[in-house]
Amino acid sequence: MKVTFFDLTAQYHSIKSEVDAAITSVLESGSFIGGNVVSGFEKNFALSCGTKHCVAVGNATDGLFLSLKALGVGPGDEVITPAWSWISSAEVISQVGAKPVFADVDPHFYTVSIKELQTKVTVKTKAVIVVHLYGQAVDIRPIVSLCKENGLFLIEDCAQAHFTELEGQKAGSFGRCGVFSFYPTKNLGAIGDGGCVTTNDVEFANHLRRWANHGGLEKDEHLFEGTNSRLDALQAAVLNVKLKHLPRWTNQRVAYAQQYQDQLAGIAEIVLPSIQAKSVHTFHQFVIQANQRDNLKAYLEKQGIQTLIHYPKALPFEPAYKHLKHTEDQFPVSARLQKSVLSLPIYPELSAEQIDYVCEMIRSFYGR
Ligand SMILES: *Cc1c(COP(=O)(O)O)cnc(C)c1O
Repeated sequence: MKVTFFDLTAQYHSIKSEVDAAITSVLESGSFIGGNVVSGFEKNFALSCGTKHCVAVGNATDGLFLSLKALGVGPGDEVITPAWSWISSAEVISQVGAKPVFADVDPHFYTVSIKELQTKVTVKTKAVIVVHLYGQAVDIRPIVSLCKENGLFLIEDCAQAHFTELEGQKAGSFGRCGVFSFYPTKNLGAIGDGGCVTTNDVEFANHLRRWANHGGLEKDEHLFEGTNSRLDALQAAVLNVKLKHLPRWTNQRVAYAQQYQDQLAGIAEIVLPSIQAKSVHTFHQFVIQANQRDNLKAYLEKQGIQTLIHYPKALPFEPAYKHLKHTEDQFPVSARLQKSVLSLPIYPELSAEQIDYVCEMIRSFYGR
């Protein structure tokens, strides 16, 4: 049996007629940048997140960068961000001229820990970026309070957390803004790059929109120098189609995660994911910690099962951050995770039999 880590064509084929019709209608409209399809998607997505506004941008990295710009974060400022994440949530801080200050993550939930955050706040701290990693909701209430007490902006990186919930409220609606990615393999994926920023703050939404559109809301308005970062109509049309299927797809991911939990329970050599209390984990990734991780990965590969490592190296130890001179004892959890994590295939188009097979092969590797 073959189990690939992604299968984007399977998803396309499951909704082919709807996607094809949406693409054709954009081609027929002659409106490829902006227009009703894009603003329609922004409205639909804001509604699905329970926020007042959504600003579509070119990708989530731009969304994070532009959010910092729109909030006036720059040289001399510090921004706290998790040590354990994709590099976007750190590199954008340097790109606006501020300093990324890494905080280690919780050993059970893999999201930033409030205790670590608290120790990193200084007089220079201007903002905090939290990441709802793998689809897991950050325990965000104490962080919202911390930010309020210290006058810090809170940005949620929701690139892996479409429809993730905490206490019935969607990720992307707790902080000043939430930043989503529509990279093709994300839970809601475009047919190219795409992203958006959700917020309840109309001033911020307009300012961000100007930042993404050469400093103006209108074509020939340039209140300041901005840049160009937009979601095109073709992407928005496909995303509008897929958004309707996302609740069903999310349920399927959650069901497969449960199947993994049930069938892998009791194997002493692995640690299964923990789920934050009162939350909906949307399982962008199903990540285990495994003894002999690299051997297990190679063994599964031989059995036709693709796995990935998110991430092979924690951010403070990447060459890009060598100048910060971080050591492993400063980030013990991240240092441990980079040696033990393994992401198993999880997407709605898999079959229950394929999940069975993955579990069976993991059991056989450990002789169980
Ligand atoms: C994918 C991802 C991003 C970047 O998204 P792009 O749309 O590719 O720029 C940012 N943060 C996290 C946590 C991600 O997983």
